[in-house]
Amino acid sequence: MYQAIADGIGVLALVDHHVHPALTTGLDSAGFEELITESDRPVPAGVTQFDSQLGLAIRRWCAPVLGLEPLAAPAAYLAQRAALGGGEVTRRLLRASGISHFLVDTGYLRDGMLGLDGMAGESGAEVDEIVRLETVAEQAVLAGDGSAAGFAGRFAEALAEQVPGAAGLKSIVGYRYGLDFDPVPPARVEVTAAAGRWLHQIEVTGQVRVADPVLLRHLLWAGLSHGLPLQLHTGFGDPDADLRRCDPLLLRGFIERAEPGGTPIMLLHCYPFHREAGYLAMAYPHVYLDVGLAANYLGARAAAVVAESLELAPFGKVLFSTDAWGLAELHYLGALLWRRATAQVLGGFVADGAWDEAEALRIAAMIGGGNARRVYALD
Ligand SMILES: [Zn+2]
Repeated sequence: MYQAIADGIGVLALVDHHVHPALTTGLDSAGFEELITESDRPVPAGVTQFDSQLGLAIRRWCAPVLGLEPLAAPAAYLAQRAALGGGEVTRRLLRASGISHFLVDTGYLRDGMLGLDGMAGESGAEVDEIVRLETVAEQAVLAGDGSAAGFAGRFAEALAEQVPGAAGLKSIVGYRYGLDFDPVPPARVEVTAAAGRWLHQIEVTGQVRVADPVLLRHLLWAGLSHGLPLQLHTGFGDPDADLRRCDPLLLRGFIERAEPGGTPIMLLHCYPFHREAGYLAMAYPHVYLDVGLAANYLGARAAAVVAESLELAPFGKVLFSTDAWGLAELHYLGALLWRRATAQVLGGFVADGAWDEAEALRIAAMIGGGNARRVYALD
């Protein structure tokens, strides 16, 4: 019985609704370890990131894809990775993930990452783009004539240009400010004043990063008006985000004001606030969630977060994602750990006599791809 459920979930063609491009460059040991933690600090002496849930998961599950024994030693794993080459490793892992469609966030890139066509070519999957509002604003301000009054119009034009090719939009207001922002759309005069401060700051510091809460709110409301699903970073990430201010419950005022427009609001990552996110998904018709990122970092504990994401939220509101960034190991594991965790959790419901196999497979298919195809209108 459990095996039938695991087999059924194992062959689902997944839609990864929140993911970043894979890297194809070779990596030394330090470079690899930097990419298997959300910390942006140096690894402390005497500690290795391989001794973590994610590190063990890489050795257990990725090593065989590279032709090694399960739980190969880190040095052997990295040596095999180097021998095969970054391109071959990435191709193997992306293809082995069984992900059939990636919705790629192109807002945070580094050298050596695949473009959208490259992701499609290497993975054999379909690829669509998720456009980051902050990136559009930063490009618009640089391309503009330097006038504060013209910023809102330039941003609107730049966004309107990108929307037809995008599957969805994304905001990182959680990183740049916090989710405890004033939920009211700012007035045009406030936006112009804030744009003036921003332009001045760019001139003084040379930094183009948009972090003013008035501007961030303006981007959100402008984004919502297009009706494409709006993804919001919530929950944990690197220490650039203040986790205390990334609880999705802080979004209540914004969610309620956005409700009449009906634009889907996609709460990303959520951990450790995935139960709060599940409550919001139950309470509000336009709210959805995923527990991507957490599944990878929880490794052998991934079933715990998957189980808790299936408490209050209607199953039509829960989506699969990997949130992989850079290492194709993360794309592969995001899918594999989700499949294993979901089989374990739903298989448990069936073993308990609460569900049957057909219901378990039907719900898994919704979360694995059906919900994303519907909400993002992918078909
Ligand atoms: Zn992400």
